[in-house]
This record gives sequence, structure tokens and C-alpha cells, in this order.
Amino acid sequence: MSRKPHVASIAPESARHPDLVIHARYLAQVENDNLLEHYSVVVQRGRILDILPSALAREYYQAKECVELDEHLLFPGLINLHTHAAMSLLRGVADDLPMMRWLKERIWPLESALVSHEFTHDGTRLACAEMLKGGVTTFNDMYFFPDAAATAAVEAGMRAILGITVLEFSGNYASDAADYLHKGVESFERWHAHPLIGFCLAPHAPYSVSDTTFERIQTLAAQLALPIHTHLHENHDEIREHLETYGCRPLYRLKRLGVLGPQFIGVHATHLLPDEIETLAEYGCNLVHCPASNLKLGCGIAPLADVRRAGIHVGLGTDSAASNNRLDILAETRLASLLAKGVNQDAGLCAAWEMLRMATLEAAIILGREESLGSITVGKWADMAAIRLDTLSLLPCYHPVSHLVYGAGREDVSHVWVGGEARVFDKVPLNIDVTHLKNIARLWQNRVVSCLKMDVRL
Ligand SMILES: [Zn+2]
Repeated sequence: MSRKPHVASIAPESARHPDLVIHARYLAQVENDNLLEHYSVVVQRGRILDILPSALAREYYQAKECVELDEHLLFPGLINLHTHAAMSLLRGVADDLPMMRWLKERIWPLESALVSHEFTHDGTRLACAEMLKGGVTTFNDMYFFPDAAATAAVEAGMRAILGITVLEFSGNYASDAADYLHKGVESFERWHAHPLIGFCLAPHAPYSVSDTTFERIQTLAAQLALPIHTHLHENHDEIREHLETYGCRPLYRLKRLGVLGPQFIGVHATHLLPDEIETLAEYGCNLVHCPASNLKLGCGIAPLADVRRAGIHVGLGTDSAASNNRLDILAETRLASLLAKGVNQDAGLCAAWEMLRMATLEAAIILGREESLGSITVGKWADMAAIRLDTLSLLPCYHPVSHLVYGAGREDVSHVWVGGEARVFDKVPLNIDVTHLKNIARLWQNRVVSCLKMDVRL
């Protein structure tokens, strides 16, 4: 087992009584693929104050709270780099349909009948509960009513990067692209200083956003220093229709409009030509790989190994529970790795450490938040999760990170902290009223079923 030495920093006398010390059997820092054994993480005011051998930590620090993770692997909180959290209320409502029929015949009509501030709030709460229990501490969201999503994320104590979502079509949230932008920027102004909330510009997709709107988005992204998060090349039909409408493939149009750059986050990229991979790499663009959603909607398999070879940063996303149907990033790390190995007939591709990096530090880099998120590093937010390794399905254990990616499931996640605050402890969610949340989900189930009975194909 690799174990690199770590030099403990010496904290000032005033910090010898920190808020929290976690003593971990194994600690995957992620930066430099560092795996430490019998190390401790010291937390003060939500941030990591020190990382040092447990023997030294026990001698030096008298913490207000100590957590013993004797048989666990502690790792950075996972980042779900693409989701539509509120759509958890539509999980399983439109299975086994091709993407455009799924979207146009079921999802959009249901959303038009149901989406509101209340829908977004309740759906996002449900999604936060599922994600936190699975070790996810941050999600990058694209949906409507961002104030409702922000409220839900803060109530759950979870970090959310919310989309200033833009489409050309009118909907329950906004009437046209200008209205979407106006409302999104208002939400940004209300929430962006909150420690748990951040924003992206989120044009829905090249097929649903005009040239003029993309230009306005680009200007706003530069003014507000925000990333641009958009669906890209998800399936063949979308690319064919774009060719018919615009005379070119979507990525070429985005390049012509000047949208590409290190702030660009393209989601899916299931179909990329070799020269498009070169373009993405040349402009320093980032991608989000959503393998389960791509498979379930029959869209294809993104060329993960090829884009990695080109040096493109990639994070992992679940997409929504309406197309996945799980918000389970740990499962995505395993699936993405297996697909890359199988498609390329090369077992050495996308190894466990690389997958963990994609789900944590690389996602933080893509969001421009690597100074505060994505690894267990002194100075960063104490966003962390742990799995128990002493279970029948995970013993014996030779390589804890291999077990995390290939062997464990989200049900093995035992503890989760966001900003040093425990959100899950010994598998129990701490600030979620589970009974209340289940009742809310059942209420929405009744409303959705009523819509379906009335045939919502409006
Ligand atoms: Zn999506």
C-alpha cells in the first residue's frame, strides 16, 4: 500500500482546542493521490486546520468533538457536476423512451403542468437527502426557480452551484431568454455571498438557445466571473437537427460564437469527432461525463479515454433522477471506469484514483473552486465522507481507494461532513426529517399521477 510521508503543521496555541478532530484509519487526500494511514483531520470554523498522524493529533489537540473512524476510509466529499435536482419528483415517470421523445412527450409537458417554486424546493430537498446519504457534498444544478433550490440546499446543509438557466421558450419560471437571464441574475445577487451557494450561467443547450442569447451569456459570464454550463452533443438526433438548422454541428457554432474557453463546461459530449476533441482541448474546455444517463436514454457512450488522452478536465454527473434514475456519483465512478476499459479493451484505463479525482478535485477545478473544495487539504472547506471497510463485502482490504470505486456502494457511506458540520453520522442523516420528506414525495406522486391520468401531452 502506498503511503507517503506528511509533515504535520504546528498550530498556534489558540487553535489547540479546535471544533472537531476526525481520526481515520485511511485518509485519501486526493491531491497527489496521497493515501495516509492512521492520520487525523483537524477542523476549525468549517475549514481544515491541520492534517497529521493520529498519535500526534491525540497528544496535541483537545478538540470539542472527536470522531473515531477506526475501520474507515475518509475521502473528499463527492461532487455531482451535473444534475437537475428538482426532477427527483419525476424519477421513473418516463422510462425506456429515446431522449427526444422522453423530453418532448413526457418531461416538458409534465414540467409545464407542475414546475413551480414549491416543486423545485421539494424536489431539491429530496435530491439533497439522497445525494448527502451517498457521500455527495456539492452539486452543480441546472433548473428553474434557483431561489427555491438555494433554500432547499441551505436547509439540507449542502453545497449547491445553481444554474442561471436560459432557454428561448417560455415556461412557468420565465417568459423568454431575457426574462430567464434577468431572474437568474437577481437570484445570483441574492445568494452568491452565501458560503453554501454558487452559480453558473446555464444555457440549456445549443438547440434551445439562440446566437444572440449565447452572446449575452458570454458577456455576463465574463462580468460575473462564472462558468458556462450547458448540454452538448448528447445524442445523434440533436446533432442532425442542429446541422439542418444551423448548417454545422453544435460545437462548431459555439466556437464561432466565442463561447469556448476554460470557463466552458460541456455536459455529455457523447458524440465527438476527433477534431472536436482537439478543439475542446485547444480551448481548455471542460466536460461532464454522465454515463448512466447516456446509457439509459440510449444516447451512446462518451469517449472518456480519448478526451482524457487529450488532457481535457472531466468531472462526473448523474443528470437528473428522471433519466438516471439514481443520484449516485459513487456508482458513476465505477460505471465510467468499466465502460472506458471495456470500450477500449484496455484494463489500465481510468484507474480507481483517477476516477476519485474526477469526482472530487477535478470537478472542483472545473467549477473554479479548487482553492476551497475537492480535496482534504489544509485551508479548504471540511467537506468529507467516509465508508466503512470492515464489512463482509469489503474485507479483506488491500487498496482502500480501489474498494471505494470498484467494491463499495453508496450504502457503505457512513459519515458525511459539509463545512465541518456532520450531515450523516453512522449512516443516519442528521438534519433531514425523513418522515416529513417522504410525505412530501407522496404528495407530489399523487399530483404527477393526476397529470398522467389527464394525459399531459398538452
Ligand atoms: Zn442534463
